[in-house]
Amino acid sequence: MNRSGNSEAAEPIFLRPYFQQNIWGGRRLAEEFGFAIPEGHVGECWAVSAYPGRESVAVNGAAAGRTLAELWRDVPEFFGPLPEEYRAAGYPFLTKIIDAREDLSIQVHPDDAYAAEHENGARGKTECWYILDCPEDCTLVLGHTAKSREEFAGMIAEKRWDSLLRRVPVRRGDFIQLEPGTIHAITAGVMLLETQQSSDVTYRVYDYDRLQDGRPRELHIRQSIEVSGVPAREPEKLVRHTDALPAGRLTELVRCRFYYVSRLPVSDSAELPADRWFRICTVTDGGGSLIIKNSSAPQGSRFPLKKGDSFLLPASVGGAPEEGAVFEGRMDVIVAGPVI
Ligand code: ZN
Repeated sequence: MNRSGNSEAAEPIFLRPYFQQNIWGGRRLAEEFGFAIPEGHVGECWAVSAYPGRESVAVNGAAAGRTLAELWRDVPEFFGPLPEEYRAAGYPFLTKIIDAREDLSIQVHPDDAYAAEHENGARGKTECWYILDCPEDCTLVLGHTAKSREEFAGMIAEKRWDSLLRRVPVRRGDFIQLEPGTIHAITAGVMLLETQQSSDVTYRVYDYDRLQDGRPRELHIRQSIEVSGVPAREPEKLVRHTDALPAGRLTELVRCRFYYVSRLPVSDSAELPADRWFRICTVTDGGGSLIIKNSSAPQGSRFPLKKGDSFLLPASVGGAPEEGAVFEGRMDVIVAGPVI
C-alpha cells in the first residue's frame, strides 16, 4: 500500500497499442519495434490511447485487461488531482508512433473552438513530433507562402502546390510543435513519435491525387481554408534540435496549454523527479529497466524496458525522498504529461 491507500497505484502500467492500417504506412513498426502488427500497410501505432474504439489496454498488474479509458474513469488516483471538468472531458492525449512509407496527405487540424462547433463537440488537435528516423536530406511540409486567405484559396484552387507549400529540413532527434491551423505533412521515410490532443479531426488539403481502393480519399478544402493560419509562421522557427541534450537529465521540449513533452536520454542511470500528476513514458530507442521505489519496496521493484514500450506512470509514484522512479540502461525516453 502507498500513501494513496491504493496498492495497485505504485507501478508503471504498460499498455498494448492499437494499430491502424493506412495507404501510406509500412512494416517498420514490426521490423524495428517488434510490434505484432496486422497484415498490410500499417502506418500508426496508437501507443497510448483512450480514443473510443481504438483504446490501448493495460497488460500488467492489477490493471491488466482494462482499457486506458476505463482506468481514467475508475481509478482517478492514477492520474492525480484534476479539476472535475478536465476529468469529465475524458483522457486528454494520444501518443502515436508513425511509420510513413510514403508521403502523408497535406493536412491541417482545427482548434478546440472550431472542432466543437463543426465536428460534434470533438477536440481540436494541437500536436507535436519527435523525429525518430528520417532519410538524409529529409524535408517536411510545414506552413505555406500565401499572404492572404484569398491568395491561399486561389493557390489551392489552381493546384499551385510547389509555390504554396513550404518545406523545412529535419534530422533525427528534431522536435516540432504544431499549433492548430498549421499546414503540414509527414514525408516518406520518416518515423516519429507524436503527442497530441485526443482527437481524430483532420482536414485534407491535397492527397497527391492518390487512389485508395480505386478512388481518391476525401478532401476538405473549405474547412482547410477556414482553419489555416494566414500568413503562416516561419517554419524554420518551429523546429528544435535535441540531439545535444545532456544524458541523465529531463529536458522539457514544449509546454503548451494542453501538455508538456520532455526528453530523457539515459546513458547509465537517470532519476525521474516526482510529480503530482500522471506521466506517459515511451522508450523510443535502446532499453534497460525502470526501478520503482516506495515504502513497501525500499529496494525497488524492477521492470524491464525495451524500445517501443509505453507506460503510464501513476501520479502516486514518487513524491517522497525514499520514493521515486529510476531508469537504468541505455535508452531514449520521451515523457509527457498534463498542464493543469
Ligand atoms: Zn497532423
